[in-house]
Amino acid sequence: MKIEHIGIAVKSLASADAVFEKLFNQPAYKKEGVASEGVETSFYQIGESKIELLEATNPDSAIAKFIEKRGEGIHHIAFEVADIDAEIQRLTAEGFQMIHTTPKDGADNKKIAFLHPKSTSGVLVELCQEKD
Ligand code: ZN
Repeated sequence: MKIEHIGIAVKSLASADAVFEKLFNQPAYKKEGVASEGVETSFYQIGESKIELLEATNPDSAIAKFIEKRGEGIHHIAFEVADIDAEIQRLTAEGFQMIHTTPKDGADNKKIAFLHPKSTSGVLVELCQEKD
């Protein structure tokens, strides 16, 4: 439906928030931890899209591994879908490799599922659907 948000991996939310608050001239509208993913997040609303900053809370977190390998930077692009279960089925049938074959709880009141970047030209893609 649209680009819901772009996720950016950062080493320190405290210092990245200071920079992005200045860049966007507004504070984060939400700060939220996702314990299952080992991350703390900050969200900024930019028009109809959002920016999600992600900091790892433990060394096993996917964000910690990403930063270790590639440094800070754009981590994923999230697309909003109307029916995440139907999209997972459709994309699996099209041959895409899903990291999550069933949706899980994400930040910002969303059901989410990631596609493996191997099947999407190296871009980590997140599908997300607003929870009712
Ligand atoms: Zn995300």
